[in-house]
Amino acid sequence: MISHAHQPIAAIATAPGRGGIGVIRVSGKQLLPLCQSLFNRNLTPRHAHYLSFNDATGEAIDKGIALFFPAPHSYTGEDVLELQGHGGPAVLRRLLDRCLEAGQPLGLRLAEPGEFTQRAFLNDRLDLAQAEAVADLIEASSEAAAKSAMASLSGRFSENVTALDQRVVHLRMLVEATLDFPEEEIDFLEKYQARDQLADIRRTLDDLLGQARQGMILREGLHVVLAGQPNVGKSSLLNALAGDEVAIVTPIAGTTRDKVVQQIHIQGVPIHIIDTAGLRETEDTVESIGIARTWAEIEKADVIIHLQDIRSPEDELDAAITKRLPPRTPVLKVYNKLDLVEQTPENSQNALYLSAKSGTGLELLKQRLLDIAGWNPAAESPWLARERHVQALQQAAQHLNQADQHAQLNDSVLDLFAEELRLAHESLCSITGQFTSDDLLGEIFSSFCIGK
Ligand code: GDP
Repeated sequence: MISHAHQPIAAIATAPGRGGIGVIRVSGKQLLPLCQSLFNRNLTPRHAHYLSFNDATGEAIDKGIALFFPAPHSYTGEDVLELQGHGGPAVLRRLLDRCLEAGQPLGLRLAEPGEFTQRAFLNDRLDLAQAEAVADLIEASSEAAAKSAMASLSGRFSENVTALDQRVVHLRMLVEATLDFPEEEIDFLEKYQARDQLADIRRTLDDLLGQARQGMILREGLHVVLAGQPNVGKSSLLNALAGDEVAIVTPIAGTTRDKVVQQIHIQGVPIHIIDTAGLRETEDTVESIGIARTWAEIEKADVIIHLQDIRSPEDELDAAITKRLPPRTPVLKVYNKLDLVEQTPENSQNALYLSAKSGTGLELLKQRLLDIAGWNPAAESPWLARERHVQALQQAAQHLNQADQHAQLNDSVLDLFAEELRLAHESLCSITGQFTSDDLLGEIFSSFCIGK
């Protein structure tokens, strides 16, 4: 859990590097003294002030816009001061240092990752699912994902969860009221059509779970390992799959030599393609780090595409790669360069024939990958979801199922029925953050970028 929650915090909120503008953000319970000390004047709330940002001696560091948002009408719910200067690393660093210096009497310190959003959560400006959506919107790699993240951020997912939870709570209140009058217990289930109500709630939860799963696929995507010998057409296939879109190469932090993961989108679903091209024996340290990372990525794979040239038989390298692959990961055998042979063999469940060059068979491969991901293009994916949300919904579903089993027995098990409803309620509430451990909060917010 992030400590010193009472201290004011500051950070550069814009991405590192150079840009037209750069923003410093400060949040704290009482920032008027800071404004005074920086500008020798008070700032009108929510007005753009064009000012000189001076150092302690009065020399200008930069000129820019200062905005002051008094609590509680700000992102964090506290006083927020935003300084928009020129977007260069040195000038922003100086400006940040100046803020820290001027804010020293207030205890101003550097913000930790996600700390602004964490304060927004703690001050009830956002619930937990919305706070997560902030990070997801920033991270979104496709238009579809960005749209869905925005829907979550505006509260659509939370509203659905809360509405469902209210029905669970209502039913539980009825049960608990009955528990206080034992003579009524017998006909409670019938009197309130409790099992029908429960069945209704379970149906809604199932729908929600289906949508959350779609939302999760949109966020997490599918990890695909592309294995195969040199020259079978791995790069060609990747480019053909990416279509007009440039495949995003994600060099894993630290080295530039290991271009391990490339990302493309199929119907807005992120597909992370892990290239096994670099998997060879090496003495080079940097390269062997790259290879270790490639294997680490492979461990996470949802599916392996084993690409072969339709004209050549499997060789030792193919066999070696397949041998080291995780045993439970599904393998899709794909035979490329179909245009070079006379006869087109029949596609089967785990063997596809295609030509990266002519495009024959590509659509089928895309469809197969989306099927494996569990993507249903017809089902709406109205918001983005995380694995954590899907798990919480699954838990709630299990408790409601358990409650129904108690109800079927129909004798004096009302307290057990009520208990399962209470547990379902807790699971649902963990999504929006009413019941969450400090550990979970720490985990969620520490994955944010600094300044958010
Ligand atoms: P990689 O080493 O596995 O990445 O293979 P490349 O994508 O670089 O392809 C190797 C060679 O095969 C290149 O000359 C490609 O133009 C060619 N190639 C790739 N796919 C096809 C295909 O479907 N048909 C034909 N005729 N050639 C292909």
